[in-house]
Amino acid sequence: MSVPWPWERTRICVSVAAPDRATLRASLRRAGGAHLVEVRLDALRCAAALDDAGLRELVDAGPVPVGFTCRPAWQGGGFSGEEPERRRLLHRAAAAGAAFVDVEHQTPWAGELLESSPAPVILSHHWQDPSPADLDSRARDMAGMRPALVKLVSPAVRADDALPLLRAGRRLVESGQPATAFCMGETGRASRVLAASYGAGLIYAALSGDEVVAPGQWTVEELRQTIRLPQWKTATVACGLVGHPIGHSLSPAVFNAAFGASDHDMGYVPVVSAELDPALGLASGWGFRGLSVTMPFKMEAARHCHRLDPLAEAIGAVNTLTASPEGWVGHNTDAEAVIEALGSRIALDGARVALVGAGGAARAAAVALGRSGVEVTIVNRTVERAERLAAAVGGRHGALDDLESQDFDAVINATPVGMSGTGTEGETPFPCAWLRGVEVVFDMVYRPLETALLRGASSRGCRTVDGLEMFLAQAAAQYRLWTDDRSEAPLVAMREAARVRLGQDAD
Ligand code: NAP
Repeated sequence: MSVPWPWERTRICVSVAAPDRATLRASLRRAGGAHLVEVRLDALRCAAALDDAGLRELVDAGPVPVGFTCRPAWQGGGFSGEEPERRRLLHRAAAAGAAFVDVEHQTPWAGELLESSPAPVILSHHWQDPSPADLDSRARDMAGMRPALVKLVSPAVRADDALPLLRAGRRLVESGQPATAFCMGETGRASRVLAASYGAGLIYAALSGDEVVAPGQWTVEELRQTIRLPQWKTATVACGLVGHPIGHSLSPAVFNAAFGASDHDMGYVPVVSAELDPALGLASGWGFRGLSVTMPFKMEAARHCHRLDPLAEAIGAVNTLTASPEGWVGHNTDAEAVIEALGSRIALDGARVALVGAGGAARAAAVALGRSGVEVTIVNRTVERAERLAAAVGGRHGALDDLESQDFDAVINATPVGMSGTGTEGETPFPCAWLRGVEVVFDMVYRPLETALLRGASSRGCRTVDGLEMFLAQAAAQYRLWTDDRSEAPLVAMREAARVRLGQDAD
């Protein structure tokens, strides 16, 4: 039996690995954003030669409590010395004032370390394959040894591979045994956060994106700023994002800021998955309240729904799922956001609106505008696509240069032209000289916030709607759907989080 785990709330533990003591001390000094540090002694050259003073120096170098592990080569670690050396090292680290020491369950002398260590002992097990058959029996055996904390880790191939680990972690914590159980790898990334919602003792993190010690680790900054991990508690209800890729999404920062600014005990996490099915499996299996859906899953997700709201049904695509006892209910808040943003500028009924683009966003906008009495003309680089969309959803179609010859009250850009990272930043989807007489110009692009199209429109006296306004309106509609009381979304906090994130991207 170990000295007990002294921390009640989930702790962010940054893992540091360095080849020499000077680099290690420098890393430790940068760990102040975490609650704890784990030093990977197996990454240190000549770790076995560290004397007691050297170990104490490392303990004292951390601005937060410092723990140690020393993974042997037979566990995928870097320590290739003899077992007696590794054993002496961990014993001495514990005696030098370590916050904890971590030893593998299969280590023959683990029981002896548990009995004699003056520091809390983490008993860990890392599987090499997903879905380990012996997960439950091993978790029971490990808990039976009464360590300070049980750590269970396996890789994830599918997003829902994390479910058995999360459930095992929850069972241990509910039985009174502190634990952390999650999946490694990009696909396991969500599980590292979700572990906080069963009260995991530790979430491992990296000092920076270049110092990731295990695949799928979040950085300390991401966990604090984007995920707001300290807000997550055992009762926290999860929502999330599915799509591929989703690394640059604003949604995690925006929703976690919104939940932080409200009384709703909810958290939001991106679920990395190249396929929709496993991501939905994780979300329904772990009791998510809702999901945002982005490219390329908007149409596929609609097919997974038990029910679609009438607007989503007419569009045939969803960007929002809400959980119900019967299954997912699909909504399209992108379409609602277009109506809200444009409808606050002009009277929609009878307005003549040109929609530039014929992809998914244009389709959602065309359906919603048509239902609001707008006379929609879809213009697109590939005219046949505009024709097909107009035939499917109603409305006229044409070529881009119809913008020059026809009169419109508003023009909406639903193409990525002008977006950073596409090679078209600074470009406009059509010449701004064609905006003569147009009252409102609406650009769905929000990276950058002020696109060349919006600059050109402002300079010609048009009123403008930027893509962030649409983004925040669709996010606010999702927030209302997921917080059953239909409370208003805390838009100030959401806008601020989005602006910070967009500013970081621009740096
Ligand atoms: P999509 O399905 O890929 O559609 C792309 C459309 O843009 C197609 O009509 C395509 O024309 C056209 N296009 C692409 N590159 C072009 C170019 N260089 N010149 C002229 N036309 C071009 O994309 P989507 O999902 O509809 O999204 C469209 C834009 O809306 C994206 O920038 C997305 O980020 C943005 N969006 C913003 C929000 C928000 O909340 N602000 C929400 C949803 C979408 P072809 O048919 O000729 O290929």
